[in-house]
Amino acid sequence: MSTTSNPPIPLSVPVLRGNEWAYVKECLDTGWVSSVGAFVNRFESELASYVGTRHAVATVSGTAALHVALRVVGVEPDDEVLVSTLTFIAPVNAIRYLGAWPVLMDADPTYWQMDPEKVAAFLTEQCHWREGKLINRETGRRVRAILPVHLLGHPVDMDPILELAQKYELPVVEDATESLGAEYRRRRVGRLGDIACFSFNGNKVITTGGGGMIVTDHAPLAERARYLTTQAKDDPLEYVHNEIGYNYRLTNIQAALGVAQLEQLEQFLAAKRRTADFYNTHLSQVPGIILPAEAPWARSSFWLYTVLVEAAQYGVDNRELMRRLRTQAVEVRPLWRPAHLQNPYRSSQAYCIEVADRLYRDGLSLPSSVNLDDDSRVCVVRALLEK
Ligand SMILES: *Cc1c(COP(=O)(O)O)cnc(C)c1O
Repeated sequence: MSTTSNPPIPLSVPVLRGNEWAYVKECLDTGWVSSVGAFVNRFESELASYVGTRHAVATVSGTAALHVALRVVGVEPDDEVLVSTLTFIAPVNAIRYLGAWPVLMDADPTYWQMDPEKVAAFLTEQCHWREGKLINRETGRRVRAILPVHLLGHPVDMDPILELAQKYELPVVEDATESLGAEYRRRRVGRLGDIACFSFNGNKVITTGGGGMIVTDHAPLAERARYLTTQAKDDPLEYVHNEIGYNYRLTNIQAALGVAQLEQLEQFLAAKRRTADFYNTHLSQVPGIILPAEAPWARSSFWLYTVLVEAAQYGVDNRELMRRLRTQAVEVRPLWRPAHLQNPYRSSQAYCIEVADRLYRDGLSLPSSVNLDDDSRVCVVRALLEK
């Protein structure tokens, strides 16, 4: 049956139906369009208060936020950072921007997040202390930080990771770019580690077109992040720079969008949850379709609703199903190719990877835009039932 006459159902598109126009117009009318302006400060303080951290520093992207966050917690060239292998590539690249190296960690089989048991095994079995430094036996390099990625809107099981971090004196940088609004044991992601990063790219939970944010409770980290993201200027009149900084500050126009989007966040999260509930209800009986699990200790933001397609039971494999859905104008996407399979990272250390490859093979993200209506939800479910 051909349903190509239906309007396409996109994977995830921004919805701008609040005060975006009004706030951007205010920027244009007042001339405050660049990286200084009231909306930047307002966006920072409102996001910090939403997440529950004392400080926030707005950046041009989530990737820039990660780059600076890793630098301010002390990651240096030739250090190593533990990071999820199953992720969009940005956090892994950010490690390399500093000349440091990723150690790629597997996902857990239930929630698909960085596996705390493997992190524990790696730190206890593969690392040892030498002259006050934690050294990776295999590479001889210093292990300097942990970078868990809260994938797809679901939090990482953070308590065991935070415990290990404390024991091994490692700062934790949360990549919360996909998971604004998600909760771990009743605390919002972004306030669990030492410092965290958000993204406001076009397909994230809220968008500023492009943008990011660093949040932390630690004033010295926030101050340093602010300094480095604004060209490390020590004297604004004489232009004295004592360090190499970056031009990473978000503009007022983008922050204006951010403030307007943040006003709609609760609505967006409710819509994502309605979509997840709908898919859960209607796909639970389909043989070979594994639904995403929400941990008892978690509240997911369901940023991208993702299922696993087990070819043997479902009858069609993931990539074939993806092609069919796309011809029916249902935009779906596989999970990211894990970092250990990406050319720049093939020679990086990947520790006991067993699960991430299967998730990559079987994972399929379904349309999850916050303006997805019931007709579209029905359409997606029907397309999956038809095969
Ligand atoms: C989107 C994303 C980023 C990067 O954010 P940008 O704003 O696009 O730079 C980083 N990490 C993960 C896991 C992401 O999904």
